[in-house]
Amino acid sequence: MSPISLESFERDALPTLLAYGEIPAISPAYDEHWREHGEIERATQLLAQWARDRALADFSVYVQTIEGRTPVLIVDVAATAPTIGTVVLYGHLDKQPPLGDWSEGLAPFSPTRRGDQLFARGLADDGYATFATLSALEDMERQGMAHARCVVLIEASEESGSPDLLAHLDLLATQLGDVELLICLDSGAITYDRLWVTTSLRGNLIAHVRVDVLERGQHSGSSSGVVPSSFRILRQLLDRVEDAATGRVLIPELHGEIPESHRVAAAAMTAEFGDVAGDEQPTISGLELMGDTPTDRLLQRTWSPTLSITGAGGVPSVENAGNVLRPFTELVLSLRLPPNVNGDDAAKVLTRVLTSDVPSNARVTVTTSPATGWLAPPLAPWLESALEEASVATFGKSVGYCGEGGTIPFLAQLGERYPAVQFVATGVLGPGSNAHGIDEMLDLPTMINVANAVSHILSAHAAATSR
Ligand SMILES: [Zn+2]
Repeated sequence: MSPISLESFERDALPTLLAYGEIPAISPAYDEHWREHGEIERATQLLAQWARDRALADFSVYVQTIEGRTPVLIVDVAATAPTIGTVVLYGHLDKQPPLGDWSEGLAPFSPTRRGDQLFARGLADDGYATFATLSALEDMERQGMAHARCVVLIEASEESGSPDLLAHLDLLATQLGDVELLICLDSGAITYDRLWVTTSLRGNLIAHVRVDVLERGQHSGSSSGVVPSSFRILRQLLDRVEDAATGRVLIPELHGEIPESHRVAAAAMTAEFGDVAGDEQPTISGLELMGDTPTDRLLQRTWSPTLSITGAGGVPSVENAGNVLRPFTELVLSLRLPPNVNGDDAAKVLTRVLTSDVPSNARVTVTTSPATGWLAPPLAPWLESALEEASVATFGKSVGYCGEGGTIPFLAQLGERYPAVQFVATGVLGPGSNAHGIDEMLDLPTMINVANAVSHILSAHAAATSR
């Protein structure tokens, strides 16, 4: 018996993965009419049907629905070992929007294969998770490898910050039982030559900030010099959040202490792989990067609070720019938060900073949507050796550990509910995978190696917890 191969995956899973790649299942934050459009529903039903066709001994597949929320796909696979606890295998099926025009010959919802790389929105982030987890379980049962009870949980609001997940977890609480291990397949990789396990994730705080000064727009010849510009006031408010010269976030509560072990790991990583955070950026030529050293950049990407402006309102496009004093300016602030800063606390502080002592007594409205980051708890000894064995057996190289700059709200949410849970956060989002950008790419051999590594980890878990 052999593990999952490219050939077996092409036969059993690839056609459905490609069909999923054609569905624009855009996450609700980017498609307020997601319900009427029905694409998330189509994607869910497609994956559910594929799941039902798996050759597993004892399992059930269903879609859990809650009025007004995105669904969750559940595949509950009975244990084949004398174990009590539950393993949750997590992924998501909602997608980021296309972002912009894709390169020649590629399109977000028309999957293209080049060699062993698949290009389409949402395959690497994170549609492959359903296929990798269930292929791994199917392969284990085919080979007679024992596993504990496994619940594959595929949500559909992750790219919006998982606003629907807690409600689903509430409904699932009894059914999930004692969750011992969470395997999350939505994370990143530094290289494609080994299994990468995530040690921390940053949080995310999205804030809509609007400054109003007029009831309606006015001729700038009559109002400028008299009515303060909403843009100028917003600029002053932003100066409270971030040092405009350096990009350093100025609110002390948004900074977290970096554990010494993470500093050491970042230095070791850049010693081996160079400027991992800097090299992968498609910068214009001659651009000077932030941070003095590659290690600075890696630590800043994984531990620093940062501000990005991701949207603007009340500002016409350049073709429509007239000589007016605009009535308001609105910006979308997207902050990344250190792994150990609570998102709700950060949202309160940010709102206070933006709304107190507002220049010229302008009207400021702030709405926030926070997600807390995550710091991996220490690994149980069985899991530490299982990860090493899994990486060596599937990739032929030792496991790697790294912090990530992105956010997966579910990990913090699950860790809060099940304090004893062990985590494995891994994934296929390596160099050139372009998650959230144009030309998103799934590297098929890496996906298969990750799926086979999941089998190893589940097998080691069953051995470690069997009575
Ligand atoms: Zn994702």
